[in-house]
Amino acid sequence: MSHYPPEPFRIKMVEPIRLPSPEEREAALQRVGYNLFGLRSEEVFIDLLTDSGTGAMSQEQWAALMRGDESYAGARSFYRFVETVRDIFGFRYVLPTHQGRAAENILAAILLKPGQYVPSNTHFDTTQANIRARGGVPVDLVIDEAHDPQNPHPFKGNMDIAKLRAFIQRVGPENIPFGMLTVTNNSVGGQPVSMENIRQVSQVYREYGIPFFIDACRFAENAYFIQQREPGYREKSLLDIAREMFSYADGATMSAKKDGLANIGGFLAMNDEDLYNRAAAEAVIREGFPTYGGLAGRDLEAIAVGLREALDPAYMAYRIGQVAYLHARLQEEGVPVLSPPGGHAVYLDAKALLPHIPQSQFPGQALAVALYREGAVRGVEIGSVMFAHEDPETGETVYPALELVRLAIPRRMYTQSHLDYVARVAGQVARRAEQVKGYRIVEAPPLLRHFLARFEPVP
Ligand SMILES: *Cc1c(COP(=O)(O)O)cnc(C)c1O
Repeated sequence: MSHYPPEPFRIKMVEPIRLPSPEEREAALQRVGYNLFGLRSEEVFIDLLTDSGTGAMSQEQWAALMRGDESYAGARSFYRFVETVRDIFGFRYVLPTHQGRAAENILAAILLKPGQYVPSNTHFDTTQANIRARGGVPVDLVIDEAHDPQNPHPFKGNMDIAKLRAFIQRVGPENIPFGMLTVTNNSVGGQPVSMENIRQVSQVYREYGIPFFIDACRFAENAYFIQQREPGYREKSLLDIAREMFSYADGATMSAKKDGLANIGGFLAMNDEDLYNRAAAEAVIREGFPTYGGLAGRDLEAIAVGLREALDPAYMAYRIGQVAYLHARLQEEGVPVLSPPGGHAVYLDAKALLPHIPQSQFPGQALAVALYREGAVRGVEIGSVMFAHEDPETGETVYPALELVRLAIPRRMYTQSHLDYVARVAGQVARRAEQVKGYRIVEAPPLLRHFLARFEPVP
């Protein structure tokens, strides 16, 4: 694949970036304990750590900032925001939050009791942590195809419906205060969920009286994959597809830092009035008054514009095309990648590239460090650092099926030559893969340890 649809925008403002020297890179790695989250952004040349809140806003979003109404209660900006969310997602009640995890926290606070279960296709790491932090048990029931890095299933993010049904019957619906579904399924590679699967998940949850919340962070990318891949949706607009997706759910958690095309923000939306009242009471303590929820009025304005821009077909064709392009270029360079490419990132298969490093020595972390060392490219480990945990019954370490490095592409930020550079850097690392060494953890907090852990190389 030698090209993708040209950017449906031109560049009005530039932000200089610089390639640090190899010596600077090595010193930086030692200082941060080989955890790339510790780097200063100037120490990074191409920053693919995350596409969360890192994108470029449009001129319409910058203009909307000027219309921000900063009234403490009842701001115009809140109502503009709510109307947009209602129009796209269809939920009656909307609580703004400072980001996605705050919405997850409120949901867990009002619904979850210790010892209860929350199933999903795959919980994102913050969702997992918010459930665990309340004493709950997050359960991932994604289809088996998701664990095979080469399986070409068009909707590899789907929930396994039979597993879901069996799980509910085993633990009992009374022990499941709510069920979730992540679209796209970030943690297994940004893989989409089909409309048919959303419908089936909804049917199962309804049958057992379990409220159904969609993790909607990447809803527009998911809508695009449905349009491109699912029979019967080619002629439908992304907006209509999004509306149908959410018509099957009782609510949603959202990070506006993703398909809100904003730098901060999120929301919790739902149809149930009683639940909303409890959520609003919780939000007042944790986030702020329900008409601003931890955000400035100007943020609400930028999100309202961004949510619509994410559904622009030209934008989405370019964005998904860019991800597919990097995926193809990496393959040309001999780098094993998860296929097919997902919505927002390319995932390097560290297990395949570094078979000499056992999971206990974090092959994903080792690869992420090697990419930085080689070319100041920053990605993030999605593997054992993030997801290995102790089995509460046996006390043994449970390792995830995949050891990945995610190269997430910020929205509307990098050009094709930036992506070509990244592919060349990864190619260089791949050609000397056997020299890459494993790591061990020196110190780490108990939850979300990947953000703060320090490592040292295993000799
Ligand atoms: C980013 C993300 C979240 C968490 O949102 P934050 O704004 O980072 O708190 C939850 N779920 C998915 C799928 C995400 O991509």
